[in-house]
Amino acid sequence: MIYQACIACGEKYGADEIVYSCKRCGDLLEVKYDYDLLEAKLKKSDWQSLPLSVWRYKDFMPIRDPSKIVSLNEGGTGLHSCQRLVNILGVKHLYVKNEGENPTGSFKDRGMTVGITKAVELNMKTVICASTGNTSASLAAYAAKAKLQCIVLIPSGKIAYGKLAQAMIYGAKVVQIRGNFDHALKMVLELSEKHREVYLLNSINPYRLEGQKSLAYEICDQLNREPPDRVVLPVGNAGNISAIWKGFTEFHKLGLIDKLPKMTGIQAEGAAPIARAIKNGKDKIVPINKPETIATAIRIGAPISWKKAIRAIRESGGTAETVTDEEILEAQKMLARSEGLFVEPASASSIAGLKKLFEAGKIDKDETVVCVTTGHGLKDPDIAIKISEKPSEVDAEIGSIEKLLGLSRSIPATVVSR
Ligand SMILES: *Cc1c(COP(=O)(O)O)cnc(C)c1O
Ligand SMILES: [Zn+2]
Repeated sequence: MIYQACIACGEKYGADEIVYSCKRCGDLLEVKYDYDLLEAKLKKSDWQSLPLSVWRYKDFMPIRDPSKIVSLNEGGTGLHSCQRLVNILGVKHLYVKNEGENPTGSFKDRGMTVGITKAVELNMKTVICASTGNTSASLAAYAAKAKLQCIVLIPSGKIAYGKLAQAMIYGAKVVQIRGNFDHALKMVLELSEKHREVYLLNSINPYRLEGQKSLAYEICDQLNREPPDRVVLPVGNAGNISAIWKGFTEFHKLGLIDKLPKMTGIQAEGAAPIARAIKNGKDKIVPINKPETIATAIRIGAPISWKKAIRAIRESGGTAETVTDEEILEAQKMLARSEGLFVEPASASSIAGLKKLFEAGKIDKDETVVCVTTGHGLKDPDIAIKISEKPSEVDAEIGSIEKLLGLSRSIPATVVSR
């Protein structure tokens, strides 16, 4: 009932075959279901009475044995109605799906709970990934929970400190390679092909994307099955936009929703091969050799899932946009100060992109928009400190504090007796 298939030539592979790309043509794989069987299964299931979480949707997931599920309670993140941002930006309805609320602080946990469960089903003992930070933090946590050995390859140079701390404390073997993310990804692809006992959990592994599609299911359920007109999200390696689109199309196929949102991908100006291809009407990306942006989670020059992402954007009638680092940081601050949501820079690019598209008249005035904020702000505290007002230091003395705060020295109120 469940199998893997190549997105280009359609070649099929068994659900338990360890294969990361098509052996015939080299293209990406995706997980396929028999939707008639799934529909019948859903009729007998109590899934709709379960709390919001990734595993509320276990009938939709490619796992065999629910007793093997490795979970840290992922998913069930807030869909925040953002009235103050609506007033600032001028859009009609805006929600933020805040993925920083996941166990390790990013949406990667949705994919890893399924990916690691699959690793356990396949009896793997070692897992590996290349990562700009959040993938390694998440993989390390789930590997620890499942008692698997975990290896992560991170790029040289700056990596957000919170993410590094997570991978280290969860006990992963952290290897920093001299090169960028794209080099690290190339290394883990080769390593996992050569050493079959090492299971690769980058988003080229279609099982991870199965977990991430739950993000779309949750948005539908949180909006009472009335999907938004548009979903805006940051795009790096492009797995998430592909996964979310798959989720929406599956709910649609199963008759659970009757319309589909426009998928809108945002990339940082210095790392925007997909946005460029979309804007130029091209079917292929031109990889960027030295991707640069302050938003390290999307500093990727050769996104592995570019083809799925372009398909998602085109099929849904969506679009793509680029934003500068300044626009990203401004959006990060604006979201924190208007809605109380502290997200990492990559996540804020969705808000920055929405603002830019709306101001350019590329988004309709009466659309309902969901922006996905992909990771927690504490992942990258250095940036938040750099762009905020520094603390002021004064003596521990009332007068000095009053002076600093501009509080007048009022005469103490006396108790009036009647
Ligand atoms: C991984 C990640 C992204 C990019 O997601 P892709 O699936 O690689 O496109 C964006 N933001 C954050 C915070 C991430 O961790
Ligand atoms: Zn193929």
